[in-house]
Amino acid sequence: MNSQQSIHRVSHEIKRRKLQVLRVTDITPRMRRITLHGPELTGFISLGTDDHVKLLFATTPQEQAALDSFMPGQNSEGPKPAMRDYTPRRYDAASGELDIDFVLHGEGPAATWAAQAQAGQFLYIAGPRGSMIVPDMFDSYLLIGDETALPAIARRLEELPANRRAQVVVEIEDAAERQTLNSKAQVDVIWVLRGERDLLEVTRQLTLPEGKLYAWVATESGLSRKVRRVLLDEFGLDEASVKAAGYWRIEGSDEQ
Ligand SMILES: Cc1cc2nc3c(=O)[nH]c(=O)nc-3n(C[C@H](O)[C@H](O)[C@H](O)COP(=O)(O)OP(=O)(O)OC[C@H]3O[C@@H](n4cnc5c(N)ncnc54)[C@H](O)[C@@H]3O)c2cc1C
Repeated sequence: MNSQQSIHRVSHEIKRRKLQVLRVTDITPRMRRITLHGPELTGFISLGTDDHVKLLFATTPQEQAALDSFMPGQNSEGPKPAMRDYTPRRYDAASGELDIDFVLHGEGPAATWAAQAQAGQFLYIAGPRGSMIVPDMFDSYLLIGDETALPAIARRLEELPANRRAQVVVEIEDAAERQTLNSKAQVDVIWVLRGERDLLEVTRQLTLPEGKLYAWVATESGLSRKVRRVLLDEFGLDEASVKAAGYWRIEGSDEQ
């Protein structure tokens, strides 16, 4: 089986880049797009729709001082900035722009930075260190997540060709968080309003699209694991074609 016919991982050399905020755009009340640019963006690569970069945030003066020389995976001693994973939503090499969409969920170095971000500020990013390549070898796609998964889901939908089907289920805070999702494929989107319906129950009641299916799940860790079990145990999907990730953790939970 060659790499065109199997899901495979590609590694990239990790680079740390100091970028500058070019624009801040509110997509919805709770989702803020921050467009980054700068000479160090040259050569940025993101081949997989669910790639992630590490964003570095200094929360103390000591961390701020260490930031200029900090490299993830190195610098084991001394103050370390906080690192958070984010999806490169759009990279345009021609214009030299990178969009990252932040959920403004409240607390935390990333969310609080995004809430105050302004053009001209600097942000360090590192990676992606690798990309999971899912070749176009499936008839249909099941994409389940919450707001944090929307950047990766939107990228996947934008890549799908016209002869594919996608069932998308996204849990959002309220109706104002719906986004326009563009795709050539036949896409059915179910928006699950938090507190009104339950993502797990909605998943259980799905009629899966026909044909060879790839399922991708990304939401809060404990919930992702439950959704994955439903897909494997109740729908009988094959482990090899189900990818479920925890994109954030409820503080104090033991879920990985
Ligand atoms: C591969 C990958 C890609 C990701 N891509 C994106 C992306 O493109 N956009 C994006 O917004 N997020 C994305 N995330 C999720 C993001 O990394 C987490 O939400 C992260 O915890 C945010 O960091 P913070 O500093 O804002 O909050 P933290 O310091 O991590 O957490 C502070 C508090 O906020 C809570 N919290 C964290 N995230 C959320 C949330 N989403 N909703 C409600 N409460 C929350 C925590 O439980 C904790 O109580 C991604 C995660 C992964 C693993």
